[in-house]
Amino acid sequence: MRLRNIPGSREAIAASEFVISEEIMRDQKGHWDTVFMHAQPLYLEIGMGKGRFIMEMAAKYPDRNFIGIEKYSSVLIRALEKRQQQEDLTNLLFLRMEAEDLTDVFAPGEVAGIYLNFSDPWPKDRHAKRRLPGREFLARYDEILTPDGRVEFKTDNRELFDFALEEARISGWQLEGCTYDLHADEEMVRGNIMTEYEERFSSKGNPICKMIISRSKGV
Ligand code: SAH
Repeated sequence: MRLRNIPGSREAIAASEFVISEEIMRDQKGHWDTVFMHAQPLYLEIGMGKGRFIMEMAAKYPDRNFIGIEKYSSVLIRALEKRQQQEDLTNLLFLRMEAEDLTDVFAPGEVAGIYLNFSDPWPKDRHAKRRLPGREFLARYDEILTPDGRVEFKTDNRELFDFALEEARISGWQLEGCTYDLHADEEMVRGNIMTEYEERFSSKGNPICKMIISRSKGV
């Protein structure tokens, strides 16, 4: 998602108590527990866009901490506007960062779960390394996740989804759950929180695919 540059968004983000600045986020590596009100399992959404999913997750699961990661200020500012209306949430922070740098910001085993929702498809072969469910990113997730940590990925893009399944297989991850039509899958849709993209694409009639992967055997 790319919006026009929004004047003042960088300044608003820098001034917000809900966004950890680029200067200090690397210093929190291994210490994210101390940044939140409560020390509890940490979950990330990578490429959160306008932030509805992670805001609803944070409200639904007060016993977990959440960090929403987004690389563009012009998009993050939209999430921040929503966040400011829910100041009582003490378990939700945002980072404006490029996900390639995840291992600089999170220590091994520091993250309990990762959500990828409607990640950019990067359809050209030469851009495959930029796809968030691709093998280069799976190796980064592998480093920062707890041993039983999971990655959950939703998309309406069948090509990207098939690519993600294959990348997970090649990288030795276990498939814990998989559906090609989430909203029709009684079991997997339970507790589903819709993202902005999910609402937009499913209202056009596109089926939503979802997979859950882990590295632990026989969960
Ligand atoms: N998850 C939201 C937005 C999906 S659009 C939803 O489902 O509604 C994908 C978002 O991921 C965009 O906002 C884009 O800027 C962000 N993004 C893509 N690649 C990224 C990366 N490498 N690091 C951080 N954010 C990224």
